[in-house]
Amino acid sequence: MQCKGKRFIEIAVGLPVYSTYTYIAPAGETDAVLAGRRAIVPFGKKTATGYILGDASILPEADVKPVCDIIDATPLFPATMLDFFKWVADYYLHPLGETIKSALPTGDIPRRDMARQAGTKTAIGDAVKPDVPPDLTPEQATVVSDLSARLGHGFDACLLAGVTGSGKTEIYMRLAEEALRRGETALILVPEIALISQAEQRFKARFGEKIAVLHSGLSRGQRWAQWLKILRNEVSIAIGTRSAIFAPFASPAVIIVDEEHDTSYKQDGSLRYNARDLALVRAKMAGGLVVLGSATPSVQSAYNARTDKFAVTHYLQHRVNNNPLPDITVVDLRQVQKHRGARAFISDELFHALKSTLEDGDQALLFLNRRGFSSFPVCAACGETLRCRHCDITLTLHKKINAYKCHFCGFSLPATAVCNTCGSTAIKHLGMGTEKIQEAVQQLFPDKSVARLDRDTTTRKGSIARILKDLKNRRIDVLVGTQMIAKGHDFPGITLIGIICADLSLNFPDFRAGERTFQLLAQVAGRAGRGEKPGRVIMQTYNPDHFSIIAATQQDFKSFYDQEINFRKALAYPPFSRIVQLKISATDREKSRDAARRAGDACRDMKHGDPAFAAVEVLGPVEAPIPRLAGRYRWQILIKAPGANLLKQFISRLINENGAAIKKGNARLVVDVDPFFMM
Ligand code: ADP
Ligand code: ZN
Ligand code: ZN
Repeated sequence: MQCKGKRFIEIAVGLPVYSTYTYIAPAGETDAVLAGRRAIVPFGKKTATGYILGDASILPEADVKPVCDIIDATPLFPATMLDFFKWVADYYLHPLGETIKSALPTGDIPRRDMARQAGTKTAIGDAVKPDVPPDLTPEQATVVSDLSARLGHGFDACLLAGVTGSGKTEIYMRLAEEALRRGETALILVPEIALISQAEQRFKARFGEKIAVLHSGLSRGQRWAQWLKILRNEVSIAIGTRSAIFAPFASPAVIIVDEEHDTSYKQDGSLRYNARDLALVRAKMAGGLVVLGSATPSVQSAYNARTDKFAVTHYLQHRVNNNPLPDITVVDLRQVQKHRGARAFISDELFHALKSTLEDGDQALLFLNRRGFSSFPVCAACGETLRCRHCDITLTLHKKINAYKCHFCGFSLPATAVCNTCGSTAIKHLGMGTEKIQEAVQQLFPDKSVARLDRDTTTRKGSIARILKDLKNRRIDVLVGTQMIAKGHDFPGITLIGIICADLSLNFPDFRAGERTFQLLAQVAGRAGRGEKPGRVIMQTYNPDHFSIIAATQQDFKSFYDQEINFRKALAYPPFSRIVQLKISATDREKSRDAARRAGDACRDMKHGDPAFAAVEVLGPVEAPIPRLAGRYRWQILIKAPGANLLKQFISRLINENGAAIKKGNARLVVDVDPFFMM
């Protein structure tokens, strides 16, 4: 809006405020496109960075201030993305300016143009050889022709449920190629960490310079360079982890979410979005196609497919080359005879299978979803555990660094630490982690190369790639690892998978515990037998009769789903409801409890005070399963409603009317929409 020669513009500042503000554009900028550019604006007594949304639509009140400066010469994202940002901010109840801020690369745009540096190398510096597209299998061909035909015909969502090794990535590449052929763009999301380098390599081998890559392993400068390539239409394909859902394509024709069930799509902090869910929203806004692929689809997506919320579900029942799915043997840990020493966690079945695999010159993966050496250091004199000073959890001994560490806050004690209660030096190292397994296997097979892949061995840049490369080139005989080994890798030399303890995630206080366990186990098992030789899986468990475990041994997500969905329905959990978790915390125990009580009372008053909220359920407040983390005392309230809109109305009214009162005395209140991490 212009008035008396002045141009009024609307700006969202990158601060925790829910409104947007009107400012006067600089005199020289009366006609330029301003939306999508950043500006420095006066805000209170200070200045702030803001994102220009466009011209103000209502005449502002009297004393409107001029912006101090406009930072960017051109917009940082296409105007079409503004509606998407607004949707995201609205849905996750997050300030718009902060939403845009967390979508963009951080820091300033580097002066030097780094876009040229990338070349046909991967982010970790591997040269990529161009590949020759294989002939599609009949199953793949059917899917590719159906999905290609949907391109350019408006919004469609598709679930691609294909067993591990069925060639889903090839399908993604054909779809991207089809989008390119039509002069359009494609966005591909993959889960965090290791998968990105593998997917990146395959896409670079196929598409060379035409792709941009966005993930957390890039430096700020590299991130900006990739971002600008997308923005300036220098590439037509972007591939990346969670945050790549914000890649600045004006209107992607296809968005692919690989391993759509993966929890790394949910951000656990600041803007708590789920990129898988946002892929659907963005595709709908762009009138494009969205493809969610997985061997173990999430209950949510499977439900959407069953209830015809999605246009089509494609199944790939066979592995490429018709390799059989691995044969899975379940070992009931309640029945096995306990060995001492190195064999304590390795049953006879697993030991003999390992032995013969290694004798044949093949490779094995051993999976245990817990890192460190001992997860349960306990005093032999008084029975107390060694605990973190700031969190209500036991410390984990890490032999490699000779220290006890807290896996939540990073607190550490030297390995020589004594019992905090009685001062005894006799600490028993119970509880196993990947480090202990690695040591045990190395003792059992001293002349084999036993390596480990977990967060501790991969802190340095490029270390994941190095380990995976060694695995591929068979410089590693046995790889012990956490869920990092579960994800999507394709190594033909692996013929044995040992699952040391299948139950670790089963009893988590989380309604998705069964789903996570099923997905993790089925994915790990799927790493076996991808080459010429058939694969074998030995799964050790204390719960051989649990349906999540049984379904995982059969790699049968349909049977898992059929049982799980009944349980969700009976308890009105998603997908039969929407939930928001309020996370309330304070550094003082009393204050945290009082704040939680105020929040709970406010919720109940609202529910009972307005018939519109009759269907809203308020559960809690309860102390969090981990009652203290990093020095903060924590409480939770779960709020359930049959639909997203009702829930949002409820929560936004709660925040507007009671937010400040709840936070009295420095308590923190976090709203987590569609929560994933409930501990
Ligand atoms: P998924 O993602 O379904 O687990 P991948 O896409 O990793 O499976 O495919 C498994 C392996 O099969 C890969 O090595 C891939 O290169 C190969 N592959 C995929 N499609 C074909 C095909 N049509 N012909 C030959 N090999 C294929
Ligand atoms: Zn003691
Ligand atoms: Zn801690």
